[in-house]
Formats: sequence, C-alpha cells, structure tokens
Amino acid sequence: MEDTMEGKWIPATSVRSGVGQEVVPDMYCLTIQIVNVCFVGNPEQPNEWVLVDTGMPESADDIISAASRRFGPNSRPKAIVLTHGHFDHVGAVVDLVKEWDVPVYAHEREMPYLTGKASYPQPDPTVEGGFVAKLSPLFPIEPVDLGNHVKELPADGSVPGMSGWRWIHTPGHTPGHISLFRESDRSLIVGDAFVTVRQDSLYKVVMQEQEISGPPRYLTTDWQAARESVQRLEALNPALAVTGHGMPIFGETLQRGLKKLANEFNRIAIPDYGRYVDGSH
Ligand SMILES: [Zn+2]
Ligand SMILES: [Zn+2]
Repeated sequence: MEDTMEGKWIPATSVRSGVGQEVVPDMYCLTIQIVNVCFVGNPEQPNEWVLVDTGMPESADDIISAASRRFGPNSRPKAIVLTHGHFDHVGAVVDLVKEWDVPVYAHEREMPYLTGKASYPQPDPTVEGGFVAKLSPLFPIEPVDLGNHVKELPADGSVPGMSGWRWIHTPGHTPGHISLFRESDRSLIVGDAFVTVRQDSLYKVVMQEQEISGPPRYLTTDWQAARESVQRLEALNPALAVTGHGMPIFGETLQRGLKKLANEFNRIAIPDYGRYVDGSH
C-alpha cells in the first residue's frame, strides 16, 4: 500500500470542518475541511458499523477519534465503502486500513484508481465557474494503491456490513462512482453525483450555503452520464440525502431541488465551457 498524497496542502476549508451531525439515529456525518464522511450503524453496536468515504489526506486521526466518541474506544468498522476514488474521499483510507485492517469496497470501474493503475484525468482549471476551479491543478490526481485490501462491491447490489442498503452505479463524475440507498426510510448517500454546495464558488464552499448543484465541475468528465445518474437518483424519491460536499438535505427541499436539477441539468449543472464539455447541450 502506498499513500501518494502525504503532505499535500489543500487550499480550501469550510466553517463546518470538524462538525458532526446525526442525520438519522444510525447515521452520523462528519465534515472534514470540505468533504463529508458518514458513519452508518447503531451506536450501541460498536463493531457493526461501516464508514462511507474517508475524507481529506491526513484526516485519519479525526476520523478515528470521531469513531471512538460515537461507538466507544477501540471500536472499528466492519468495512469501508468508497463512493469514488477522488483524493478528498480516499484521503485517509490507507492510514485507516493500517489502523483497522478492514476490507474496502468500491465499484469495479473505480478499481484502477484505487490500486495505483490509473490516474484520474487532470482537473479542468478552464471550466466555467470561478476560484476553486482555478486552484484545481493543485489537487492530487494520483491514485492510492490499496492493493488487495480493496474489493469489488457485490454484483447483487447489496452493501457489505450495511443491511437494508443497496449501491447504485451513478457514473459521470467518475466512471465507477456509486451512491447508497436504503428503501425503508429512503435515505440516500450521494457521494458527488450531486452536491448541496457549489464547489466552484469559494464563498459558498467556505460558508457551506445550501443549494443543490450538479457534481463538482472541474473533476467531472462525462456530463451525459452525470445527467442520467441524477435522474436515476431523483426517481428514487429520497427523503434525505447526505452529499459528499455541503450539508445534509431533507424532505421537500431535497425533492424540489433534485427534481429541478434533473429537469434542468444542462442549464444548472453543465458548465458553459470547459475541457470536458462538448458544446452539444
Ligand atoms: Zn469527487
Ligand atoms: Zn468530492
């Protein structure tokens, strides 16, 4: 295993960094700088939970102490599930696997980026949309290498360690991007298929203002697939959604915002210009 991200300085944080929120009784979300990680499981059962995504580089200590506070000292999850392999979602994964020795699950098409075989395409600093996009060349795109610690999610849609949940392939932002859905209370863990803060506005990143947007622009490479993924998630009619960036969003605000994004995806989500925009929309 090799952690290629060590020591990289990320020039973005938010006022919510370090803040945690219990979204439903068995789901706790922690904001690390600009990104959310999610602890799924009943806090009464210290070794029965799953960590979804692993935050920014060098955040393992923050995640481990949040886990101890919630599930008790020395508790560890059954598994780690990754929505995708971008640096801000896999930042602590190598350190956490060393600490916990648990399997990591991801989509088959995300494997090259998690086993050191392929780098993501360069972020597009020319994309329409402001300051964070201009900083995006500083974001690491080198893959982590989890070796044989990472496994493919089961083909039947189930999620190891998360009974009642299923994974949904939501490509576009990355080829193997997934979201997680629980039918019983219509909870959705979105990853970056859509977000509730505009990542390309530094002001909104810092203040974490709530608004539903498409996936972060400077790293999204397939806008057609991204639109279909949003439509797939909208059709689930979720009651609450935890996104990779921004605050959790609930009920009618979610349903209205998601419907609008699905219906007007080209206008709201797709940048007017940029390296990965074909101009045909
Ligand atoms: Zn991402
Ligand atoms: Zn992200």
